[in-house]
Amino acid sequence: MSANTELQQRSLAAVWHPCTQMKRHETLPPLAIARGAGAWLYDLEGKRYLDAISSWWVNLFGHAHPAINAALKDQLDTLAHVMLSGCTHAPVVELSERLAAKTGQALGHCFYASDGASAVEIALKMSFHFWRNTGRPQKREFVCLKNSYHGETLGALNVTDVDLFRDAYDPLLHHAHRVASPDARLGETPEAAAKAALLDLERLLSEKHAQIAAFIVEPLIQCATGMAMYDACYLKEARRLCDRYEVHLIADEIAVGCGRSGTFFAWEQALQSGKGWPDFLCLSKGISAGYLPLSLVMTTDEIYAAFYDDDVTRGFLHSHSYTGNPMACRAALAMLDLFESENVLASNRLRAARLNELLQSAVADSRIRHFRNRGMVWAFDAIVDDETKAASFSRRFHEAALKHGLLLRPIGTTVYLMPPYVLDDAELVHLAEGTLASFDEVMA
Ligand SMILES: *Cc1c(COP(=O)(O)O)cnc(C)c1O
Repeated sequence: MSANTELQQRSLAAVWHPCTQMKRHETLPPLAIARGAGAWLYDLEGKRYLDAISSWWVNLFGHAHPAINAALKDQLDTLAHVMLSGCTHAPVVELSERLAAKTGQALGHCFYASDGASAVEIALKMSFHFWRNTGRPQKREFVCLKNSYHGETLGALNVTDVDLFRDAYDPLLHHAHRVASPDARLGETPEAAAKAALLDLERLLSEKHAQIAAFIVEPLIQCATGMAMYDACYLKEARRLCDRYEVHLIADEIAVGCGRSGTFFAWEQALQSGKGWPDFLCLSKGISAGYLPLSLVMTTDEIYAAFYDDDVTRGFLHSHSYTGNPMACRAALAMLDLFESENVLASNRLRAARLNELLQSAVADSRIRHFRNRGMVWAFDAIVDDETKAASFSRRFHEAALKHGLLLRPIGTTVYLMPPYVLDDAELVHLAEGTLASFDEVMA
């Protein structure tokens, strides 16, 4: 038995894999990974795959990055963990200060957790609790976009609109209001799609604002539904509507933050003269560069002040055991250092231009609709009329891509790339050629 097969069989006997119908693994077992280096993952027999989706969008600087490794080795010998309730430590302080500075102190307070769904629930709870503390407890409903994804714990599922993840648990949920998505594919132009969606948001807010605590949105790209990209004018106007109707705005930047959209925070593209930040901003996934679980919620002085009191119960009494873990914060600091020392946003613009050039043939391909790119995200929709073929498209593409040395998993019939910020020219060529060749094979 090969080393790969042996590990795969033990995994299937003992590990319940996430987001997976385990029976599917009878035909395609999970990839057995021994190690990672840069953009590459290596299996137990030395075959390598370019990690074109940054391992579920988290490994922003690839695998085993020397600078992040060194920072973590140092942190390991200093302080691996201490509770954040009643204690503090330098990495969590420095991380909070540096992130706040990136918002010009608009979001000056940072609350920590370990995963994205928890960050979303923290923002929802904080919003509700703010209104309760300020004498408006009736504001306890939430609004999300159609096709939104904000995580899969029960609270986060209330604001998630992906049927596949939600329907089985529907009897357990308290649904949020759902308003039209500004998905650019839905309009004549991206601006027209945004305008139509804004009408729906305004209709709901004008009618129900007395009961609504917050509107939660994935800025610029609804990732999990299949990289639905939209115009920043939607966010500017949504900010204005939320101000007018006294509704909090929660920016879920768990996937699009940390440079993925082309700016450090996606929301920067919706600011007007540096103003108009959301009331809450959630980060996770890339914040710790794929090293350790970390998430956080940034918020304003105004919201923070509404909890500051002699009365304990007016405080935000929420916690997780690993809240603000020093190792995870140190990984985040090393990630921020790389942004500065390597001028990442500028070098990503060059990578994006090059990859667009290499993928040029897909733009005009008659088998493809809606080729799109924003920052370091690419996507296109395959035109597959046959239903059975459409249903198996993602699995077949995934298998074809592996043969071309690529880890790529389409969402339905949407092929997308979310590569790490480390690809050199040869790797960009490998990525583009492998993607196009896999597509040809699957469509043949
Ligand atoms: C991944 C994701 C989440 C959930 O994060 P987890 O760490 O998987 O719980 C929430 N919102 C968005 C936009 C995401 O992409």
